[in-house]
Amino acid sequence: MNLIFLGAPGAGKGTMADMAVQKLGIPHISTGDLFREAIKNETVLGKKVKDILASGALVPDDVTVAMVEERLAKPDAAKGWILDGFPRTTPQAEALSRIAKVDLVVEFGVRDEVVVGRLSTRRVCKACGKIYNVKTLPPKVEGVCDACGGEVYTRPDDREEAIRTRLSTYHAQTAPLIAWYGGKGLLASLEGEGDPKDVFARFEALLAARDAKAR
Ligand SMILES: [Zn+2]
Repeated sequence: MNLIFLGAPGAGKGTMADMAVQKLGIPHISTGDLFREAIKNETVLGKKVKDILASGALVPDDVTVAMVEERLAKPDAAKGWILDGFPRTTPQAEALSRIAKVDLVVEFGVRDEVVVGRLSTRRVCKACGKIYNVKTLPPKVEGVCDACGGEVYTRPDDREEAIRTRLSTYHAQTAPLIAWYGGKGLLASLEGEGDPKDVFARFEALLAARDAKAR
């Protein structure tokens, strides 16, 4: 099954995707991870992305689409995948529809205030990207990554004002995207607040309902 997870930054899509990987046995493909991996491996696209990100600009759609296409062609994605962080805009969704078939788009809805509460307490390892939370998941030693010993810090875009800007960008870009997928009958909206286990149970119920309908 080919799935897209939509949700505001901090809506918990990454966590849901990790749980879905366990359940469905298909890979979780996040464009953030693709960028990091390509930069690390110094691929042609990776070098391009590195320069673009270093300049503070957004990675253009054609570069992102090329990376996603390359990733979807790998053998582990043959039975399906979960895309997270892409598409973000209607033009990206149109580009994706030309390279792959999407079965279901799941939108995890979380109120802005809840997102601000979650993200402003988030900390990230500068070296390996592992995510912490000062309230719910602090590193054993303050400021030091449990996994790699790297520096754990607040990303500039996890400061409250930056979070609010990201949220308004998300809503502006995603409202048309949600309408676009809704018009194709591919969209399912789920309550994304609460314990991740409960959110995941809603996702499983959604899949079960679809299976029952398909039979
Ligand atoms: Zn680390």
